[in-house]
Formats: sequence, structure tokens, C-alpha cells
Amino acid sequence: MELPELAILSQQMSKEIVGKRISKVEVTNPKCLNMPLEQFQKTVVGKTIKSAESRGKWLFIKLGSDYVLLFNPGMGADVIHFKPNDKLPEKYQTKFTLEDRTGFTIRACWFCYLHLMHADKLNEHKLTAKLGMTPMDKKFTVDYFKQLLDKKRGNIKTFLLDQKNIAGIGNVYIQDILFNAKLHPNRAISSLTSTEIENLHKSIKSVLNESIAMGGLAYEKDFFGNKGKYGSEQFKIAYKPGKPCPVCQTIIQKIKTGSTSSFICPKCQPLTK
Ligand SMILES: [Zn+2]
Repeated sequence: MELPELAILSQQMSKEIVGKRISKVEVTNPKCLNMPLEQFQKTVVGKTIKSAESRGKWLFIKLGSDYVLLFNPGMGADVIHFKPNDKLPEKYQTKFTLEDRTGFTIRACWFCYLHLMHADKLNEHKLTAKLGMTPMDKKFTVDYFKQLLDKKRGNIKTFLLDQKNIAGIGNVYIQDILFNAKLHPNRAISSLTSTEIENLHKSIKSVLNESIAMGGLAYEKDFFGNKGKYGSEQFKIAYKPGKPCPVCQTIIQKIKTGSTSSFICPKCQPLTK
């Protein structure tokens, strides 16, 4: 789950659960919490959900006037809404029941974070305090992006994946983002021209917006259990090694870039210019 999936989830949660009071919370994987389970339950139960917003790969759920619940799906999670008498998902580790007997369950594939912070102490939450701006923010302009890249060292892919720089891009969407901008993942930031940065900025917005418009990734579920429609047909080069590049027909390659894999068209995304 990357920015589009979390953005969709937060929009749907805002409509369904905001304004409702939490009456019960069950957690069978307390390692996801940042406090003992009993303390978590005691603090959360009785609070009204005030808002649900996404920031990069995190959900910020405001509880009452003093607390914020921070959720990160880790390697992926199903966060699914339920109504009274609905059949619940077969497996889940966390269940929030609301005063009207609706609620939601969370099933994490591997690990997730469910951290409760006092609103005044949000800046002490190490994992989110330094999150960069999300590309969906109105302030994420070309000029802002140019300033962000100014005098930075290293390569562009590593920079874009670092959540402290920009919040929300992961190793799925980055592939086509770089392809559209005709940038090799290992291009040094210092070598980027002004036009290349402008194209990259445009590509970040267009890839993420297109996915949001299509309901997110085809293998991730939304709040109502529906899968998105952004899949293999929408991907240009991502996860298509051996297939022809949609622009120049050169065979797409899968290469190792640091600790991540990258898919590139060697002709459209040359390393040196
Ligand atoms: Zn090509």
C-alpha cells in the first residue's frame, strides 16, 4: 500500500466512521501497539473519531480532542468496514466496534503499526514526525520540488523513496514515475536539468492521481473490501521485464538498484546523458 491506497482508505473512512464513538477494541497482535494493550483500550474506548487523514503511507485518525491513532499497514493490510450482522473477514488481528455496532477490522499481512499518541506529543513519534510532504499537498509545487532537490547528493530513486523527503511513494509506483520522466533510477540528483525535474514532478502527480481515480492497486482492498483497478494494464514498465517498452519497443529490464529492484527501458532511461 502506497499513497493512493491510503488516500482512498482515509476518504472512505471519513465518510463511514467519523463522528462515531468507539465502544470496543480488540487486538490480538499487541506488538503493533506502542503501549500495553489495557492502556490502549482504556484510552481509546469512549472516544469519538474526529477525522481520518492520510499522509504518505500513514493514516492519522483523530480521537476526541486529545489523541491521534497512527496506522501504517507495513507490508500490506486489509482494513475492512463492517455493519451489524455482516460476515467478518476470516482472519483479522484488530477489531474496532463503534457505538452503532458498525466498525472495522484490520488484517496485517506481516506487521503493522497502530500507535496512539497524545496530540501534543505527535512530534515525539519518531516514525511520523519527520515525514516529508505528500505529493497530493497543494504546497507540493514544482518550485517546492526544485528546492527540495537543490544541492542534494545521491541518486533520484533513493531520494524519492525516502519518506523523510516525500511521503507516500514506494517501490511500486516509482517505476512508472521514473519511466515517464525518462530518468534512470541511478541518475545523480545533481545531474538533473530543470526540465527533467519539472517532468518528474508532473509524473509523480499524474501516476498517483491516476491510481487514486481508479481505486488504487488491483491487489489491494479498500475499506469496503473492493479491489482497485490499477493493475498490469496501467503499468507501463513496472513488473514487465522481457516485454517491449510501450514507447520504443526496447526490451524492459529488471535491474538491482541498491536494496530495491527497478524496471527500466534502457533506451528511454539511459544512465548518462
Ligand atoms: Zn523505451
